[in-house]
Amino acid sequence: MATKIPIAQKRMFHNVYVCKNCNKKVRSPSVRVVAGKISCPRCKGRAFRPIRKK
Ligand SMILES: [Zn+2]
Repeated sequence: MATKIPIAQKRMFHNVYVCKNCNKKVRSPSVRVVAGKISCPRCKGRAFRPIRKK
């Protein structure tokens, strides 16, 4: 996997999750996502995936 600019990638993708229902991107600390403490601002869903995985 090409990691040209790791710092920028980390800044862009770190702590960013995607709603499984509506694909809305949400930036939140991973501990909060895992603990289920955040909900999607668009559909109020609680199913998120890390943005890196496709
Ligand atoms: Zn959503």
